[in-house]
Amino acid sequence: MTRVYNFCAGPAAIPESVLQQAQAELLDYQGMGASVMEITHRGPEFMAMAAQAEQDVRDLLNVPDHYRVLFVQGGASLQFSMVPLNLFGVRTLNGKALPAEYINTGVWSEKAIEEAKRFGDVQVIADATPSHWRSIPEPSAWQILPQAAYCHYTPNETIQGLEFGYIPDRGDIPLVADMSSTIFSRPMDVSKFGVIYAGAQKNIGPSGLTLVIVREDLMAKPLTQTPQLLRYQTYAEHDSMFNTPPTFSWYLSGLVFKWLKAQGGLEAMAVINQRKAQKLYQFIDGHDFYTNHVEAAYRSWMNVPFTLADESKEKLFLQESQQAGLLNLKGHRIVGGMRASIYNAVPEAAIDALIAFMQDFAARYA
Ligand code: PMP
Repeated sequence: MTRVYNFCAGPAAIPESVLQQAQAELLDYQGMGASVMEITHRGPEFMAMAAQAEQDVRDLLNVPDHYRVLFVQGGASLQFSMVPLNLFGVRTLNGKALPAEYINTGVWSEKAIEEAKRFGDVQVIADATPSHWRSIPEPSAWQILPQAAYCHYTPNETIQGLEFGYIPDRGDIPLVADMSSTIFSRPMDVSKFGVIYAGAQKNIGPSGLTLVIVREDLMAKPLTQTPQLLRYQTYAEHDSMFNTPPTFSWYLSGLVFKWLKAQGGLEAMAVINQRKAQKLYQFIDGHDFYTNHVEAAYRSWMNVPFTLADESKEKLFLQESQQAGLLNLKGHRIVGGMRASIYNAVPEAAIDALIAFMQDFAARYA
């Protein structure tokens, strides 16, 4: 069996050693004679695994004590609803709800904006659409509000490959970040955020699990209509096991957290990730046949979209790259072109192989 280099945007590559460990203990988890999928989540074996996974998240990200680490279902998309449901009631003015600030940088922030509108007043304070997602407006140009329930943004837009190179400063206004495609790619200061959330299937593990890191005071006042399972409180009070959690995703994500620690943690990942991305952008910029449209300061470390000078060769590019063992390079249908997602689990050798293929392809068809 040969393993391909997988550039899928999500569900994405998982470290091979993690898959091997899962395979080795699949039939018999910790001498129980059953797999981790077949045991109760209330038993000591699963509880210990879950607690360790949380501890590893805390260690990797230096999560302060007054933040809760929650393991939720429903994907990052459910957080588009959970964030407004839990946060609109927290900060009020004269008993009235405050609007929420949203920064629109692409497809995923737009979806978050549309969902939040169901629950409160939403103000888009900055918009990358006029630049055709080539850049993000500078903070000095944002139409900020004097007070807001929270400020939501998408640090990395997975489809457009547009990334904030910095953490916005909104003062006292709680910052909420959809980190689905950038979490664990480098160290970050959790204390600058009110809520961080990320679907697992890109830089964490299998789909079915969403990691939420929430400052304790922001869980206290969900809107009254908020269903029990959509309240952060419910997860915090029940160790994320109010109902049956996605046990296999949780377990496998736990193995990935251990793998990240073994790589040297997020400082080490940042060095590798930056090098991987730089290599690929440098190649694209140096080659007339390929273009990445994002301005250098806003380029994503994780998702690298690119187009071919000759659009009619796209199908061929995809066919031949697949034959060369380079999988899932098709861009998202909304923007077209190609996209290489180069998350933590995509080794540097994959980037080298991709560049070699791109060079050869251009030499033959440019
Ligand atoms: N936000 C971002 C930035 C994403 O990339 C995605 C998925 N590609 C989502 C949200 C939606 O995630 P899910 O499918 O887990 O709901």
